[in-house]
Amino acid sequence: MLIQYHKSITRKALSERFSPRALEALLAANLKQDDLLTGQIGHDEYHYDNNAIAESDRYLERQRALILSALQNDDPPAAWAAFGRLVHTAQDFYAHSNYVDLWLSHVTRNGQTPPPPSEIAPLMDELVHSPRLHSGKLYYPWEVLAFIPGIKHLVIPLLPKDSHAHMQLDSPARGKRFAYAFEAAVKRTRYEFNTTVAGLSPGLEALFIDLV
Ligand SMILES: [Zn+2]
Repeated sequence: MLIQYHKSITRKALSERFSPRALEALLAANLKQDDLLTGQIGHDEYHYDNNAIAESDRYLERQRALILSALQNDDPPAAWAAFGRLVHTAQDFYAHSNYVDLWLSHVTRNGQTPPPPSEIAPLMDELVHSPRLHSGKLYYPWEVLAFIPGIKHLVIPLLPKDSHAHMQLDSPARGKRFAYAFEAAVKRTRYEFNTTVAGLSPGLEALFIDLV
């Protein structure tokens, strides 16, 4: 997802849950995951890219474990950074995999009209375990050219259908399905917050949300 959408998804999901300074800290860590040099190359697991689905799932749980140890060490900024990284990856799942397509075909399978984006279920069991679930492959170096405004319209048609360029729902320019990816990411971000907090004692939860 483009960084402005990571920002708005995170704010929509979490602004009532954290203090303003905790929210800003976790947002900064979220956005840093898209840094070209430190966050993109060689880190498919940060973004559910290249079919790194199991690796990305494990990355989420590693960040969750880091949150707990940071809070036990009385280091809430480290916990906020880990949670920012965690929700970035969780949000990208909907922009980089075909989950939205699988969900839309599931809910319209008997000829129904698609429900509005606000009704998307972000973690439907049979879809997250479906053998048809996959994410966009990055065909370097061509994929880099697909990001450049003046030439991307020439490059994208040359890339395979399972490429990141064809599959991504990173912005509203991708059409109606972006709104489904956006709403799913908001719900998933709240789900990850609830899951994380469920593993904390009341004292550590207060430290995490920065209750003042
Ligand atoms: Zn990303």
